[in-house]
Amino acid sequence: MFELDKILRSHLKELEPYSSARDEFSGEARIFLDANENAIGSAITEQYNRYPDPYQRLVKEKLAGIKKVKPDQIFLGNGSDEAIDLIIRAFCEPLEDNVIILPPTYGMYKVSAGINNVAVVQVPLTADFNIDETALFAHINANTKVIFICNPNNPTGNALSETSIIRLLEQFSGCVVVDEAYIDFASHESFTRYLDKYPNLIVMQTFSKAWGLAALRLGMAFAHTAIINVLNRIKPPYNINGLTQEKALQALSNESIKNTMVASTLQEREWLIGALSELEMVQKIYPSDANFILVRMEDPKAVYTYLIGEMVVVRDRSNVHLCEGCLRITVGTRAENDVLAQKLRAWS
Ligand code: PMP
Repeated sequence: MFELDKILRSHLKELEPYSSARDEFSGEARIFLDANENAIGSAITEQYNRYPDPYQRLVKEKLAGIKKVKPDQIFLGNGSDEAIDLIIRAFCEPLEDNVIILPPTYGMYKVSAGINNVAVVQVPLTADFNIDETALFAHINANTKVIFICNPNNPTGNALSETSIIRLLEQFSGCVVVDEAYIDFASHESFTRYLDKYPNLIVMQTFSKAWGLAALRLGMAFAHTAIINVLNRIKPPYNINGLTQEKALQALSNESIKNTMVASTLQEREWLIGALSELEMVQKIYPSDANFILVRMEDPKAVYTYLIGEMVVVRDRSNVHLCEGCLRITVGTRAENDVLAQKLRAWS
């Protein structure tokens, strides 16, 4: 059974979060002399002299409608990378607790745990890139506080077993983080539909992929309000800057642009799979529910170096366990994919 109080680090229960005068004051005011801002204006034409809304209320309201969740089930981070770090800091006691990851997977779970001096227990995926449930349950111990599941998984690109994740949500007494950075490109539905059912579920998404806003640094975590409140209490007060909030609102008001880009990326993914499958050097193309494709070839390092020489950069994953021989290739525009295909055809 999941009980937030049992996994929240004890010193955080008494923590007094930072609060500004604007949190404490709820009426209307015309003059703000509370935050030592520059009252005159900004050193650029646009005005950014006032601190942004620390709780990003307008963004969350709009996002809640689109994601079919409540605003108080949303946490926004400076990229999902900030959410990963805060989740570890909320629940894992350094030198005592551990998190479980399922490699090959996204690198920041391990990096963030390492920075926080939290042990990482690795339970590799099966050879066909799925959850090894028996091994996973066998590795959970009393100090396991968080399990990170990347779905669709990076760098393999596939979707993981929904029933395995559900069983974990039902039986594990810590938090299950389902990182859905690539969900818009997947054929399955988001786990956000289980938020009301599982108090230990945290779903992460990002504006960096489908929305095309990687430079804004805006990540989302969806969870039960109790977990969201914890993340809000330990985050830096103004973690989402004003420009990012404005641009996110703009993007959310034009969701169809994102949808069109996703549709185009899915078409291009098929085109690229077709082009790659005609190449002799390609041994295997793994199924993808993301905006990248994992491709196995005989001499990935040589191909990688050759492509660099041709000014095309892909990701070499050939040293990663279970991805031996593989390059991870992001789906580009048709023009970019075409150049890649031509360069690979010219390889000898
Ligand atoms: N999760 C996964 C699975 C990713 O692949 C990435 C970025 N490559 C992130 C999270 C980080 O996203 P953000 O840009 O929101 O920090």
